[in-house]
Amino acid sequence: MNIILLGAPGSGKGTQAEKLVQDHNFEQLSTGDLFRKNINDKTEMGVEASKLINAGKLVPDDITNKMVDNHLKNNRSDGLIFDGYPRTINQAEVLNDLLKSSQSKIDKVILLEVDEEKLLERLVGRLICPQCKRSFHVKNRPPKTPGICDYDKSVLITRPDDSPEKISIRLQAYEKETKPLVEFYEGKGNLIKIKADNLTSQQVNESILKALEL
Ligand code: ADP
Repeated sequence: MNIILLGAPGSGKGTQAEKLVQDHNFEQLSTGDLFRKNINDKTEMGVEASKLINAGKLVPDDITNKMVDNHLKNNRSDGLIFDGYPRTINQAEVLNDLLKSSQSKIDKVILLEVDEEKLLERLVGRLICPQCKRSFHVKNRPPKTPGICDYDKSVLITRPDDSPEKISIRLQAYEKETKPLVEFYEGKGNLIKIKADNLTSQQVNESILKALEL
C-alpha cells in the first residue's frame, strides 16, 4: 500500500510518517529530505535547489519529478509514504504515471488539516536533527536535553526556511500550488481528511491507522 500525506508545512506530515515507518514497515519518501541531502552533498541539483528552498519557494516540477523518478528506480515502489510530494497537479500526474509503470499506485491520500495560527506556532519553534531528520519543537516536543537529538545526540538545528518571513512564503505556495490537490484526489475518491488542529500526534496517528484499516 502506498499513501500520500498531504498538508501544509507544519501540519505534521513528517512526524506522522516517522511513526508509520517505525510501527508499520512503511518507507518514507520525503522530497524535502532528498533536497536537503543534495544540498549537503553539494550536488549540482542541490546547489540549484538550495536558492529556491531557502527563499521558501517550490523547486520546479521537472527537477522534483526527476529526483523522485530516480529514487523510485533505485528503491521499492510499494509500502511508501510520500511526504511533501506531490505538491502540484503536475507532480500528482507524473507520480501516477511513475507508479503505473512499476505496476503500483497510490492507495490512500491523507489530508492533515491544521489552521494557520497553529501552523505558524509549530514552524517557528521547530528544531530538526540534521542526522536522523526527526523534528522536535521547543514547546510541543522538546528534546530531553535542550538542543540535542534524543536519538543520535546530534546538535539540533533550525531550518533556514523556518524563519517567519520564509514561512509566510511557504504557506502562500501551499495555498496556491498544493491546495488544488485536495480536489484532485477527492475526484479520485481516495482522500481522507483528518482535522488535526486539536489532536495530539498520538491521536492523529490513531486516526490515520483507522483510515488505513491497519
Ligand atoms: P515543509 O513541508 O515543512 O515545507 P519540506 O521539508 O517538505 O518542508 O520541504 C522543504 C522545501 O523543499 C519546500 O519549501 C520546497 O522549497 C522544497 N520542496 C520539497 N518538496 C517539494 C516538491 N514536491 N516540489 C517542489 N519543491 C519541494
